[in-house]
Amino acid sequence: MKVLVAGGAGYIGSHCVRQLQKAGHHPIVVDNLAYGHRGAVHEDVPFHKADIGDSETLVEILRREEVEAVMHFAAFCYVGESVEKPLLYYRNNVVATLALLGAMQEAGVKKFIFSSTCATYGIPAKLPITEEFPQIPINPYGNTKLAIEMALQDLAKAGSLSFAAFRYFNAAGASEDGSIGEDHDPETHLIPLAIDAAMGLRPPLQVFGEDYDTPDGTCLRDYVHVDDLSRAHILALDKLDKPGTALCFNLGTGQPFSVKDVIETVSEVLKRPVPWEAAPRRPGDPPALYADSTKAKSELGWKVQYQTLRPIVETAWRWHQMNPEGYR
Ligand code: UDP
Repeated sequence: MKVLVAGGAGYIGSHCVRQLQKAGHHPIVVDNLAYGHRGAVHEDVPFHKADIGDSETLVEILRREEVEAVMHFAAFCYVGESVEKPLLYYRNNVVATLALLGAMQEAGVKKFIFSSTCATYGIPAKLPITEEFPQIPINPYGNTKLAIEMALQDLAKAGSLSFAAFRYFNAAGASEDGSIGEDHDPETHLIPLAIDAAMGLRPPLQVFGEDYDTPDGTCLRDYVHVDDLSRAHILALDKLDKPGTALCFNLGTGQPFSVKDVIETVSEVLKRPVPWEAAPRRPGDPPALYADSTKAKSELGWKVQYQTLRPIVETAWRWHQMNPEGYR
């Protein structure tokens, strides 16, 4: 299938491009390179430097490349930044995504795969989280993703498209061969920050809150390997033939790990201590989030290859060793 990957030069998008190729599909990347890296996309993949909000260009690309489905990863994803700059998040994650959906409609492309987030659940009443839980985000980032999920439900009901929305838990790790991986600027994610702290490349890691109601007082998250996430997208492509199909799936391993578990695992893998210090809670952080992904397993046949934290951290470490400067 010819699949347009919006944000294909970003962290999750670039891994998905690789998985699409591996499965025999033909990815076409659109990325404005605001956060993505040209080096994350192989030269043999058609690449268009364009903004998803630029409808005219998008319609032209969708038609010329004879695109059959769109996967959309081009979003801002920092919870903290979304609290400070909500308008930026609504513009990019909502307004630009609606423009992309409009371009698809004009070009007659009717299959859409959307990167949503566990942040749409807010603070869940119990755990693990299933897809039926109420979606009550506690930060603007989660609100913007939920807004698009709602738009997609309405578009599917109108028969305008079929879609799968994936609610990611904590994407982590890097490609097994260490050639592509996580390189955010600024980096805010726990595993790369812990690796950098252990290597002396940054000051000690700040542990945001030690007084949560969790076994060791630090937040619990469900770290899921970026290639496992990507494989779910490929499986979903085959489920979107019927117009009006509306699918939502959690993607996580179901295993909660605390911030201190991550620190311990990183120091085991690197064989170096991770210097850290206690810091105040980060606004917008729920205490614990982990998934029940039974639905993705039973309906898509999704299998998690990286079941636990250690092999995920090993891939992140390999990427770091092979690319100490990231894509620079
Ligand atoms: N975290 C932390 N120190 C950091 C970065 C993150 O203690 O420098 C914590 C954060 O509070 C959360 C977990 O690590 O509980 C994962 O955070 P991350 O930003 O990686 O992903 P998020 O859960 O925000 O999507």
